[in-house]
Amino acid sequence: MTTTEAAPRSEVLTRSTRTHDWRLLVGGELVASRSGTTFDDPSPVTGEVVAAVPDAGAEDVDAAVRAARAAFPAWSRTPLPERVALVREIARRVRAHADELGDLDTLDGGNITRLARADAVAGAAMLDFFADAAHALGGRTVPASEGALHYTTQQPIGVVARIVPYNHPIMFAAGKIAAPLVAGNCVLLKPPHQAPLSALRLGELIADLVPPGVVSVLTGAGAATGDAIVRHPDVRRIAFIGSASTGRRIQEAAAQTGVKDVSLELGGKNALIAFPDADPLAVAAAAVRGMNFSWSGQSCGSTSRLLVHRSLHDRVVAEIVRLVGELRLGDPFDERTDVGALVSEEQYAKVLRYLDVARADGATAVAGGAPADGVGPALVVPPTVLTGVTATMRVAQEEVFGPLLSVITFDTEDEAVAVANGVEYGLTAAVWTDDLRRAHRVAAAVEAGYVWINDTSRHHVGLPFGGVKSSGLGREESVEELIGFTETKAVHVGYR
Ligand code: NAP
Repeated sequence: MTTTEAAPRSEVLTRSTRTHDWRLLVGGELVASRSGTTFDDPSPVTGEVVAAVPDAGAEDVDAAVRAARAAFPAWSRTPLPERVALVREIARRVRAHADELGDLDTLDGGNITRLARADAVAGAAMLDFFADAAHALGGRTVPASEGALHYTTQQPIGVVARIVPYNHPIMFAAGKIAAPLVAGNCVLLKPPHQAPLSALRLGELIADLVPPGVVSVLTGAGAATGDAIVRHPDVRRIAFIGSASTGRRIQEAAAQTGVKDVSLELGGKNALIAFPDADPLAVAAAAVRGMNFSWSGQSCGSTSRLLVHRSLHDRVVAEIVRLVGELRLGDPFDERTDVGALVSEEQYAKVLRYLDVARADGATAVAGGAPADGVGPALVVPPTVLTGVTATMRVAQEEVFGPLLSVITFDTEDEAVAVANGVEYGLTAAVWTDDLRRAHRVAAAVEAGYVWINDTSRHHVGLPFGGVKSSGLGREESVEELIGFTETKAVHVGYR
């Protein structure tokens, strides 16, 4: 009797993604791009092209905007409980297909399977959060004068855009349409070119559910599709998640065709500050968790700068090296694998370039520091710990968006705060100390939108997430996000 080995999951999945007819969602229909063109979607796990993806041009964007405008009057007047019910049904469908959606993210985005599937569930949870939060749309009365009633209402804006990056494809695709929909807007979703499949699949899953034009899914080969969305005069609100450089380009382009409401969730160069009274083992574990090595460090909130007091340095670094040595590298589809692939050849090359730059500037890799062995064609750089880093080195200033942890020593609290704030970004920070006064003092002093004290990495839906300085404008994952998809109208009712 002969036995044949089961084909790896990536191979089985690729057979179906390659033959699948991937389509945009425009005006309630699953359609090819109007030009008929597609682009190749390569997998960072297998190195193969896994799908031909529609390349939406300006004419597809315009069709989606026209459908959205036509849908807006009815959708915005749909009673809130009905909008909420629809959002809950999207959540239910995403949850029911979480494994399938997550596996698509593993295939074309490189995230490890168990976390990619968890991302789909997290996207569903965000949909449910905004359904739960619907009544926060509220409005208020204001005692502004005698003889009149003054009140405010929160009104939907109209056609809004959601442009999202590649690191959590399905979580962003599913979760980020929730607030605009609950608030009564019609939304254009623009997934990243590196990992577009789960968003396109989401479009298929909701095409029969959502009124035509209320949600569109538009994929493109590069900046052109997003740029056409941003410049469309009828797109009045743009919510962007991505790099600071693209965010700035979007602000500029948006301003050329109208006065638009732009929110930006951008990059970070986040500091974890460990004071001398902190437990070195706990700090090391936090530094590893905070780096999001499972995502290959491709997380905006990653604490990629460990600012450690000189007295703790050696013990913390030794423990970090031990912990990252335990992380398993391998096929991202293997449940036992701990570290995913970098999303693309371009991102992989960028990480390796930063390693060269760091070494040339005087840093030493005490763990990792070279492409991974034994992971086949997957684009994996092992968790890398750089010591001897100083605050002004490029690797300590610029967002790598990869698995490079820079360790910087400090002697005083003032120095730690100055180094933490001495970058252009200001997204997250983590402060490790048992000294209550110091913890709050430093939390107040660091320039960041989200601060952990004696924790790291986790964010909880409900708590506003977002950055200061080049890390962005606006807050998400909270009621602020919901209100951010409305305009406030003030009404004065005279009654004397
Ligand atoms: P990116 O290159 O800025 O792309 C993000 C999105 O913008 C993609 O959908 C992209 O489309 C689109 N885009 C590119 N150029 C555009 C243009 N000129 N006009 C309109 N849209 C355009 O970012 P990325 O490399 O995918 O993602 C990594 C970055 O995202 C990192 O900086 C990370 O820190 C940041 N991020 C921030 C947060 C946060 O919450 N603060 C969360 C996650 C990630 P194409 O892919 O088709 O080019």
